[in-house]
This record gives sequence, structure tokens and C-alpha cells, in this order.
Amino acid sequence: MITLGIDIGSITAKAAVMRDGKILAVRILRTGYNAKTAGDQLFEGIISGLGLNPSDIQGIVATGYGRKSITFADRAVTEITCHAAGARYMNSEIRSVIDIGGQDSKVILLDETGRVKDFAMNDKCAAGTGRFLEVMARALEVEISDFGSLSLSADHPASISSLCTVFAESEVISLISKGESRKNIIAGIHDSIAARVSAMAGRIRWIPPVMMTGGVAQNSGVVRSLEKKIGYPLVVTPNAQLTGAIGAALIAMNK
Ligand code: ADP
Repeated sequence: MITLGIDIGSITAKAAVMRDGKILAVRILRTGYNAKTAGDQLFEGIISGLGLNPSDIQGIVATGYGRKSITFADRAVTEITCHAAGARYMNSEIRSVIDIGGQDSKVILLDETGRVKDFAMNDKCAAGTGRFLEVMARALEVEISDFGSLSLSADHPASISSLCTVFAESEVISLISKGESRKNIIAGIHDSIAARVSAMAGRIRWIPPVMMTGGVAQNSGVVRSLEKKIGYPLVVTPNAQLTGAIGAALIAMNK
């Protein structure tokens, strides 16, 4: 059975095609202004890349904030359910998931069978999300893909106390004008994301092993700050950003 999972996020749109539980192809593009157009482009691109016809796809599940705009999907499923399924596919032992994407962050607890036991979510505020990092990258004139390596060489992470993205950006600009190094500022930004996610998790008791998913998992600096904050090593796979799409493709198999 060939299925498609499609995850329309606020920053990137992701697709995964699976055959009988094996990944055949994945694709990522910027969501841009129109979520529906991004979904159509992903669908056409991934299908034609595999030499398939739309009728070869026997199940399609959409997830992500733009899931409702994917009219060619059979079903829309929440990101919590899709990230849980995708995380367990990548590592069948996982009991906790930290997902940080473009505009929200989540913590998901799973039971022994992989079912969602509890979750916490911040989708009200940019602090602790990829968008926060993008605002800071602009202020610092540094590529976001360089954030991880730069922060890992910091000798004294700066303290960033504002919880609000706009105020934190002012704080960063003030640190730049005082001559603080970029690496120390970026390390401080990562620590503030970790503090934010850990506060959001609040009452949740971490159960190891813990996996990090979402685009921000590619930032090794955020991964390290979170590991320090929560006290557990994080499992990160090369497909972290695609977890929701992979989970959606798996769920499409259980019609
Ligand atoms: P969404 O699903 O909400 O659109 P993603 O899960 O795709 O978001 O995450 C987007 C975020 O991932 C970006 O805001 C950025 O912070 C981070 N990101 C993406 N690519 C990289 C990279 N190469 N290095 C570091 N961070 C990255």
C-alpha cells in the first residue's frame, strides 16, 4: 500500500510517501503565502519524482496548521498524533517528544504502546519557537544554519531575560551594541528557548528516551541547551523535520 503524509507548517511544508511502512521519498519546501498552493506543489513534485500517478496513492493524511487547506487529503489529523506516530517509527522506544517548529512548541508523552498519554503546547506566543530564532538571526545577521556550531563555541552564554520575542530582540540589539560576541548571544538565545520549553512542559514528568522533532532539532545548540535543562540526552534523527509527515503517511495506512 502506498500512502502520502503531508504536513503544512507555518514555515515549511513537508511530504513523505511510504510503501508498506518504508519511506520511498520525502520533500520539503517553504510554505509561503498560500498553504493550498504549497500542498499542491508538494503532491505533484513528490509523485512525479517517483514516476507515480495520483491514483497510485491509496491513502493521504494531512497535518500541520494548514492541514484543512489540503482538500485532496482523505483525512486531517492533529500534529500531536502524527508526531507521536512518526517519532515511534523512527525509534520504537521513544516515550517523550519535544517538537519545536516554526510557530509552536509541544511536549508529548507516550505510553509503552506509543499512544499519546499527555501533552503540553505553546501556540500563543513566538517565544520558544523557530520564529523566535528567525527574528534573532535577522537581528544578528547570522544564518540560522550556523546558530548551532556558533553557540557550541560560546565561552559565556549571555543572559536573555525577556520572555517576549519583541523585547528579547531589543535585548539582543543592546547586547550587540555593548560588544557581546555573537556566539555568546546565540548561546543565550538557545538557553532562553530551553527555559521556555521546560516551563511550558510544567507538570509533565519526562520519561526517557526523549526525542526532539521539528525543524529546530537541526539546531545542535538548542538540542544541547535542552539536554542541560531537562537532564536527559535527546534522540535526534536526520528526518526530525519530517516527523509529522512520516507519521501522517503511517496513519494513512490504517484506513
Ligand atoms: P513548521 O512545521 O512550523 O513550518 P519546521 O518544523 O519546519 O516548522 O521548523 C522551522 C524552523 O526550523 C525554522 O524556524 C528554524 O528555526 C529551524 N531550522 C530549519 N532549518 C534549520 C537548519 N538547517 N539549522 C537550524 N535550524 C533550522
